[in-house]
Amino acid sequence: MLRVAIDGPGGAGKSTIAKFVADKYGLDYVDTGAMYRAVALNAIRNNIDQADEPAISSMLENTVIDFNGTSILLNGEDVSGLIRTQEVSMAASNVSKLGPVRTLVSRLSGDMAKTKDLVMDGRDIGTNVITDAEVKIFLTASPEVRAKRRYDQLIEAGKEADYDTILEEIEQRDYQDTHRELNPLKQADDAVLLDTSYMTIEEVVSSISQIIDDKVRG
Ligand code: C5P
Repeated sequence: MLRVAIDGPGGAGKSTIAKFVADKYGLDYVDTGAMYRAVALNAIRNNIDQADEPAISSMLENTVIDFNGTSILLNGEDVSGLIRTQEVSMAASNVSKLGPVRTLVSRLSGDMAKTKDLVMDGRDIGTNVITDAEVKIFLTASPEVRAKRRYDQLIEAGKEADYDTILEEIEQRDYQDTHRELNPLKQADDAVLLDTSYMTIEEVVSSISQIIDDKVRG
């Protein structure tokens, strides 16, 4: 089997890199952050307090999440575009602290990894979801570089952006994700650390390819 686990903080380029690697090796790609985001969107839509575990838990009874390789479905609706906002990013970080939410998304992602070769990205793939993944990567970059990349993306898309606000939100989400009790963001002992602050996408993909090739060749 070839399961590539890519973890790291928000904005480190995980999904971009994971998609390139998946394409190159003909693997499926699973974005676990999108599932937390879909849960968060459902909580926002239903006006549910993101810290209210019993309320979120009963919401989950009527929540069907599916990731089909490219799109994220919430109760059958394609919400891929709607989950990419700052509001949903922060809400995802909030609801992902809760046990019932983590159990649901970990189970869905773990099931996908049982039967298929894939690249999966998130915060706890190497430490929790696929602890025996053949390849584990911890992708990071400085908060300033991540904020600048996000700022550039927004400007390029013709949207409004404020660098200081983006940096503040990145730092807040990093803090929450690394300090929560359940499956906090943490490099697995057997993960390879890649700091992408001064690397191009091509360089990162090539480093990961080398790690995969070494592994496959044994
Ligand atoms: O990766 P992305 O930014 O889409 O993730 C959104 C949020 O979902 C993260 O800030 C984190 O709190 C949560 N998450 C998680 N575990 C994962 C993936 C994402 O807790 N495996």
